[in-house]
Amino acid sequence: REDCLLAGLIGQGIALSRTPLMQMQEARAQGLFTTYKKLDMDAPERRDMTLAQMVQSAEAAGFDGLNITYPYKIDVIPLLDELSENARAVGAVNTVVFQNGKRIGHNTDMWGFAESFRRGLAGAETDHAVLLGAGGAGVAVAHALADCGVKKLSIFDTDPARAEGLAKLVASNRPDAQTQAVSDLAELFAEDKPNGVVNATPMGMAKLPGMAIDETLIDESLWVADIVYFPLETQLIATARAKGCRVLPGSGMAVFQAVRAFELFTGRPADPVRMKATFDAF
Ligand code: NAD
Repeated sequence: REDCLLAGLIGQGIALSRTPLMQMQEARAQGLFTTYKKLDMDAPERRDMTLAQMVQSAEAAGFDGLNITYPYKIDVIPLLDELSENARAVGAVNTVVFQNGKRIGHNTDMWGFAESFRRGLAGAETDHAVLLGAGGAGVAVAHALADCGVKKLSIFDTDPARAEGLAKLVASNRPDAQTQAVSDLAELFAEDKPNGVVNATPMGMAKLPGMAIDETLIDESLWVADIVYFPLETQLIATARAKGCRVLPGSGMAVFQAVRAFELFTGRPADPVRMKATFDAF
């Protein structure tokens, strides 16, 4: 039915996710009948179910779509019929739409970061940016940075093979961007200082306090973005803000990935201001 949204979030440990509330409130504000289920695969009622069975059940039950989170963003791919260009480039899916008997995978994390960046750091210098962390989220953010006009992208990860692999992947998917893996941030800043820094490591999360970059490298000439949003004000964002940098907290990416997912589920535009207000009120 046109006036309904039936969707859910598949993941593990998703009790505190704000995605369900953002999707439901937006649907209700648009006058849709809606149910959005938290499908926690750790919950006792789902412990003997596989991801494949969960996706099949949602499809058979008439769901419009699913959000997919940790640890299933890659595992879900073989279960799908088609991938969007973004999902194929990034190699990860966070949104599945059931459409005309097909399961179509999208990656809205990438657009989510890009849109947050375009709005929150409009006019920022993008000649050279440094990405910290080349894991699942880092892959989406790296492509988004290229889409936001970053000409040179330096990638740092404590696992050098990940930084190398991501530098190669972005170079092949976004040939206009120059990419390099770096192993020493102090050396990079001394020789070729970037305009901005993005944290896509888990450092700064409530359960992993700290920063992936030495505080002394941060000065007011840099813009600083984080994608960690629990807490909303990470140590990196607080440090950069105190030093006078332009900052972009991780909440923007979290809201805009949901905005795009809502649009894919319903075919209707979402209101980002309203969804951000729901996120903030959580
Ligand atoms: P992941 O484990 O796949 O990748 C993390 C990467 O960071 C790994 O490659 C690891 O080697 C690297 N790393 C860890 N500590 C480091 C350090 N000190 N210096 C350099 N590299 C380091 O994790 P992920 O799925 O990519 O998620 C990363 C973070 O992003 C999580 O905290 C998650 O909450 C957040 N996230 C936010 C959003 C959002 O919408 N804002 C979306 C997805 C993920």
